[in-house]
Amino acid sequence: MELYNSTIREVKESLASERSRSWAYEPSAAWRDLGQNELVLTRDAAYELGGSALPASNFTCVTTDASLVPEDRITLVGPDLGEIRADSPFCRIVLLHVNDISGDDQEAFRTIRDMEFVKYHVFPEGYMMRVSPENQREQVRVSKKALKKGISFRNIGNSFIKKYKEKGLVDHVSIYFVTGGRELCKGLADTAKKVDTITLTLNHIMDGLATDCSVCSFKAVCDEVEGMKELHFKKGEAPMRLD
Ligand code: SF4
Repeated sequence: MELYNSTIREVKESLASERSRSWAYEPSAAWRDLGQNELVLTRDAAYELGGSALPASNFTCVTTDASLVPEDRITLVGPDLGEIRADSPFCRIVLLHVNDISGDDQEAFRTIRDMEFVKYHVFPEGYMMRVSPENQREQVRVSKKALKKGISFRNIGNSFIKKYKEKGLVDHVSIYFVTGGRELCKGLADTAKKVDTITLTLNHIMDGLATDCSVCSFKAVCDEVEGMKELHFKKGEAPMRLD
């Protein structure tokens, strides 16, 4: 599964030039999980990541190339939860190395879909995520109480990695939290859109809809993303010519 590899490289390169802090995975540092959504009311919230219409996004990229995600790691670019004083731009990025799916495209696709749903099953106390699948927005209301207890991105990153690790196919998880930089977060929101388009195109291909590349609405994506056209041809439903 190499469809997201160039995006993973771009993201890693662009974030490598930013000042960051990072931590290895430590399951015991995961934040308390409530097992269900908690409602954090405005009056109980200290601030909202992505609030006040600031950029806020999330995306997940899956790869079978171990060298791109060689270890479990949490990286923070920008201020930590305890250092933020008001609504802030935000982005959460998950890079996953998965094993044993390279031989079967349908399985790879199911795995990608499966991974997308993990974010709906992480419920850290005092950290209310509101995710919009339509526009990749992810806003987070952080409670004053959780801040008093010392909640940090290291805790939240460990909570996410722990959840991903419940999936047998996941080898390594690298999670990034980006806060503060409006332009940086705006650029990452564009990347989130691009990743979503790749997944939509994959969806289209897996539905087995044969069409003419020259009139296909996904042509721009297939022209840009390495391996996408080959995937469609490999399915034995070579794009049909209408002329
Ligand atoms: S390979 Fe051609 S037909 Fe298939 S999704 Fe891409 S552009 Fe469309």
